[in-house]
Amino acid sequence: MTSSAIQPGATLGVMGGGQLGRMFVHAAQRMGYFTAVLDPDADSPAGRVSHRHVHADYLDDKGLAELAACSDAITTEFENVPAPALARLALRRPVAPGARAVGIAQDRSLEKAHFKGCGVPCAPYALIATQQQLDAVPPSLLPGILKTSRLGYDGKGQQRVKTLGELAAAWNELKRVPCVLEKMLPLAAECSVIVARGADGKMVNLPPQLNLHRAGILAVTEVSEGTIPAAQAAQAIAATESIAHGLGYVGVLCVEFFVLADGSLVVNEMAPRPHNSGHWSMDGCDVSQFELQVRTLAGLPLTQPRQHSPVVMLNLLGDLWFRDGAERTPAWDAVLELPGTHLHLYGKLGARPGRKMGHLNVTAATAQQARETALAAAALLGIEPF
Ligand code: ATP
Ligand code: MG
Repeated sequence: MTSSAIQPGATLGVMGGGQLGRMFVHAAQRMGYFTAVLDPDADSPAGRVSHRHVHADYLDDKGLAELAACSDAITTEFENVPAPALARLALRRPVAPGARAVGIAQDRSLEKAHFKGCGVPCAPYALIATQQQLDAVPPSLLPGILKTSRLGYDGKGQQRVKTLGELAAAWNELKRVPCVLEKMLPLAAECSVIVARGADGKMVNLPPQLNLHRAGILAVTEVSEGTIPAAQAAQAIAATESIAHGLGYVGVLCVEFFVLADGSLVVNEMAPRPHNSGHWSMDGCDVSQFELQVRTLAGLPLTQPRQHSPVVMLNLLGDLWFRDGAERTPAWDAVLELPGTHLHLYGKLGARPGRKMGHLNVTAATAQQARETALAAAALLGIEPF
């Protein structure tokens, strides 16, 4: 072990108290660390399980000072944690990922420029920040998706547009904030890759994930040998590594890709943190994406994770808590009777349609068995078959 590693018994801090922070906290605590979470919400999923909860806004000076004072190193779990807050923390403590990488990931135009610089193609696009840029949009970008440059997630801040008239109306609706218009691509599939990179530049990766989105939100992830053709998987891993390397990245990074009909890959976006599509690793892999985050933050060794079971992950959205307008508890008993089902709920207080409440990992000896069990679980829960 390197002498600079932060040893168990120390305190790891995290900016953001959502479900990703909660699963980071669980992984850190399992390894003997204490944890501190900064989040403005008193009932945040991570704040409620952390040893310490700094109850403050992300840019609150006093809160940031308190987090820095009690943490030996600090990470982030929430895409939209202001980069300047991370820069401020970095004056006092090691922070990973750094403010620069997070700042690039937070801005679709900077992010696309970085992809280009790494030689990884993305969908044709145009920036729309002014009326002149709107007027200059080539019709070849339509039909397209207008996305706010900043602060989007789970399909929020996005509008699909078919004509220049719809585009203008959509931009007005998005309050004319800086946006990118992306050409709508015919997707054969979507996949993502998670890498972890240490301060010494060493990188390890999880096997690429096949992802199904519904209404802009991840619904199902499948990971088993052969789900993604080997050559495509290798290409996606190489592209993700070059994106991480180009950022001088330290931490866990997820890159999402579109797969076109001819099998070619186009990068969609990156997340400077563990990602929903990597949740399968908690039950299907010997090292989860959250343990990787702990290891990169603490400067512990990185070893290549090994998948031990085929997995299907089902996202559990708030919609499942409602049927015919009435609130209900999903049929957990029946689901847990199926072999190889692993339930993860995030302790969120109110279910709302589209809200990520938890996920279900289904492991089995074979990919086909995992899929069959996941389909049975989906039927019990009211999730559309896939
Ligand atoms: P998140 O951060 O939760 O992944 P987001 O709000 O940043 O989501 P995107 O990843 O940009 O959203 O898009 C969400 C989904 O919408 C994609 O996974 C894909 O299914 C679809 N989509 C987005 N852009 C395009 C495109 N240019 N062509 C076709 N489909 C697209
Ligand atoms: Mg996305």
